[in-house]
Amino acid sequence: MTIRLYYEDSYCRTFQAKIIDRFYIDNQPAIILDRTCFYPTSGGQPFDTGAINEIPVVNVYIRENDYEIVHVLTADVTTSSVEGSINWSRRFDHMQQHSGQHILSQAFVRTAGWPTVSFHLGTDNCTIDLATKGVTKEQLTAAELLANGIIWENRTIQSRMGDQHAVEVLDIRKAPDIEGEQYRLIDIAGFDLCACGGTHVSRTGEIGLIKIVKVEQRGPNTRLEFHCGQRALKDYGIKNAIISRLSSELTTGFFEIEHSVNRIREDAKITRQQLKKQSKKLVEYEAQELLSENVESDKIRIICQVFANRNPDEIRMLANKISQNGSAVALLGLAGSKSLIVFASSRNLPIDVDKILSQTLPYLGDATGGGSAIFAQGGGPEVTQKEMQKVLDKAYEFVKKSMSTNGHDNEAD
Ligand SMILES: [Zn+2]
Repeated sequence: MTIRLYYEDSYCRTFQAKIIDRFYIDNQPAIILDRTCFYPTSGGQPFDTGAINEIPVVNVYIRENDYEIVHVLTADVTTSSVEGSINWSRRFDHMQQHSGQHILSQAFVRTAGWPTVSFHLGTDNCTIDLATKGVTKEQLTAAELLANGIIWENRTIQSRMGDQHAVEVLDIRKAPDIEGEQYRLIDIAGFDLCACGGTHVSRTGEIGLIKIVKVEQRGPNTRLEFHCGQRALKDYGIKNAIISRLSSELTTGFFEIEHSVNRIREDAKITRQQLKKQSKKLVEYEAQELLSENVESDKIRIICQVFANRNPDEIRMLANKISQNGSAVALLGLAGSKSLIVFASSRNLPIDVDKILSQTLPYLGDATGGGSAIFAQGGGPEVTQKEMQKVLDKAYEFVKKSMSTNGHDNEAD
């Protein structure tokens, strides 16, 4: 069995070893060594990257049948003796996050009595799932403060082996996942004891800081995302930059940002309301103008008009306004990426615009729509203003036809 050098010394970055087996995994060379510093994916912690004889190591995992550690490489190693080195910044990051997780999990046991049911260490985020359906801001703060206090006390973190008896008599937060004669226990002096095969820092001070950044309900559990050490610093840097930019944009101190944003939101709401009122008035004028351009005194006026770059609500409003002014039919079209046709007719006219719409829609392409006898609308794919004009010309023909069939021949009732 490969000697796991990271068990004895998680700070060991380079090592000499002999190859005891070599083979291919999915056409990629893989080797097993007599000793290694490379941590294989396990216990929620990802594998180490690095190089063996300067050939990049792209995956490290535990073989299921015999627990040997498989190193997957990008090229063949030709010698039988090798020199390996791990990517230290990646490993140290994992050590900070993993050690921080032990402390945070114990902090929640002590402050709220909630055990951790799972742990995930990803490239960008770390999470623990706590066995609780909800957590208050105060409970988060209490656990976070306790955890950071333990970090600042710079307590020792040591690993030792324990047997089944030790596991039963000691106050262990997390029992071993697998059955065995000997277990590796991680002891954070006077605070936490946990069965774990991962890599940890040797003093809590090296974790630097723990910050919980996100809380999410997950069925019967609560998932917390947190950052430790360099990740916490990076996160602080990103957020500080955003706040500073906002603060300068809003020309206000950062404690005032929330207040400023609320004020802007309130202003925008008032502006929207005013705009709505104004556009309603404008639509009324527009309807009058379109009707006056189509003066045929006591005859039915058919207003056929194509628009572009307009709010669809305004088009609907305009159609309604036109139809509310005496005997008129509105055939309005909105060209653009999402085409819209809106038909409306005055109540006193025997013209069913829903019927006109179903006759017209096929000319708009893959379109759908519907409505009532006095108001109907449909939407379709992208069309140009020219194409929309052709569609409305068709609708105009259908209206004319409908009027002659109904014996009205462009005469008002
Ligand atoms: Zn651990």
